[in-house]
Amino acid sequence: MACKECKNEGIADGYLCDKCLIKTKEYKIAVITKIYDGDKLFGGNRYDELIEITYNEIKTRAKESNQTIKHIIKSYDLKSIKGGKDFYKEQKGVVFNIGEILIVDPYFEREIIGHGRKPSKWGVEYEIFNSNELEKAIKCALIATEKSIG
Ligand SMILES: [Zn+2]
Repeated sequence: MACKECKNEGIADGYLCDKCLIKTKEYKIAVITKIYDGDKLFGGNRYDELIEITYNEIKTRAKESNQTIKHIIKSYDLKSIKGGKDFYKEQKGVVFNIGEILIVDPYFEREIIGHGRKPSKWGVEYEIFNSNELEKAIKCALIATEKSIG
């Protein structure tokens, strides 16, 4: 179990680690060309995000908006963390934006620079380019962006 180039361990045999993919230019470029929101395909392009909100932040918001703390908690549907004084809010975060350009591995098309997102896991369409096709990828991203604007 090692990278076939640098022999770093923790990489399945026959594969390159992320650093060697960059060095050997065997990485691919992915361009997000279409996104689906909601539950249309693959559960969409949204992930569940938990945002922590401290009691002090709620107090400040209540004071600024002339509302009670109770009202703030109810209107933002805040839930208390382990029954304590601090709260959290659930919301849907966006995974990809249209026209986004990613550097991905050639095996599973998972991002190797950045967050490690894998486009095929989400409700998006994307195009793959070789590492020497950056200009083509940029053109594709531009077209996708222009299309989305209408
Ligand atoms: Zn390596």
